Amino acid sequence: MAKRDYYEILGVQRTASEQDLKSAFRKLAKDCHPDRNPGDKDAEQRFKELNEAYEALKDPQKRAAYDKFGHAAFDQSMGRGHPGGGFGPDFASSMSDIFDDLFGEFMGGRRGGGGQRNRSSRERGADLRYNMEITLEEAFAGKAAEIRVPTSISCETCSGTGAKAGTKPSPCPTCGGMGKVRASQGFFTIERTCPTCVGRGEVIDDPCPACSGAGRVTRERTLQVNIPAGVEDGTKVRLVGDGEAGLRGGPPGDLYIFLSLKPHSFFQRDGADLFCKVPISMTTAALGGQIEVPTLEGAASRVKIPEGTESGKQFRLKGKGMPVLRSKVVGDMYIQVDVETPKNLTRRQRELLEEFEQESHKGTSPESAGFFARVKDFFEGKGG
Ligand SMILES: [Zn+2]
Ligand SMILES: [Zn+2]
Repeated sequence: MAKRDYYEILGVQRTASEQDLKSAFRKLAKDCHPDRNPGDKDAEQRFKELNEAYEALKDPQKRAAYDKFGHAAFDQSMGRGHPGGGFGPDFASSMSDIFDDLFGEFMGGRRGGGGQRNRSSRERGADLRYNMEITLEEAFAGKAAEIRVPTSISCETCSGTGAKAGTKPSPCPTCGGMGKVRASQGFFTIERTCPTCVGRGEVIDDPCPACSGAGRVTRERTLQVNIPAGVEDGTKVRLVGDGEAGLRGGPPGDLYIFLSLKPHSFFQRDGADLFCKVPISMTTAALGGQIEVPTLEGAASRVKIPEGTESGKQFRLKGKGMPVLRSKVVGDMYIQVDVETPKNLTRRQRELLEEFEQESHKGTSPESAGFFARVKDFFEGKGG
């Protein structure tokens, strides 16, 4: 797809002044800002496009290059052989700044990026991570939890501006509010983040005493969290806007709860299915019977064991597994029986088993009978 003209994106004439560009950008950016259009891919795309256009045109140097070479001025794939190649290294670094600005806006957490006053001074707060360990039972049923998170919140004294009551931040004298300073180094002009205002473009002459000018203070907050049923090890629960407060009135970040599951004493989980090994006695395996197995609902479930059940046999309990996150689907439970060989026999038990052994015929233990017959044949040289 051909790239749209930057002036066209901003809806301004090619002769537009810096002030015209700025107001056109602000007006359009407000409409398609992702915070106002959550989930709207089209708006997000327009917002990116708008940022890119404005980043290119607000800088007189880049604007001159764009006027001369069009989009090719910023096309790094052109390399140094391009007529605009002389700008190459300089623009490469400027481009990374553009991305800092662009994605800083979406992702938050970057400091000192960007030279535009109104944006860099209002930084989005960082996203926070909170680790929570839950049991399989809690993952099964869901859980309402209360968590305490140390986080920065917007300073109430100065409403997040960082300036003392009754005063306002003033434009940075070093960079004149641009947040960046330029220095010539031989052929190149290098742009650096302004050391005085660290890219904010403004300085606070009279800092707010409550937050020392940061615009936010650290507090411990208590949050109510609903962990939905069906979460898995590694599931992240996002609490929009519950992250760190933005800097100087910027939007807050998000809080992510990273869940990990404690191992369970009976059950192994595989997605929505549960597996459980159940030992059964030799007589139950041979004669058949009924066993009771635990379930996560709490009540025990009865499982019928048919006569002649072998060790390792699996039984499926439909719908006794885990719920699937945000759906009505429920997994199954698989019981694997483990036949236990009797030990510590009484004299009477021994007699009974000896009697049983004498009564045994080929059909009682077909597998072992077949195996030992083959072993006998092997040693007598009748084949393998
Ligand atoms: Zn304050
Ligand atoms: Zn400055």
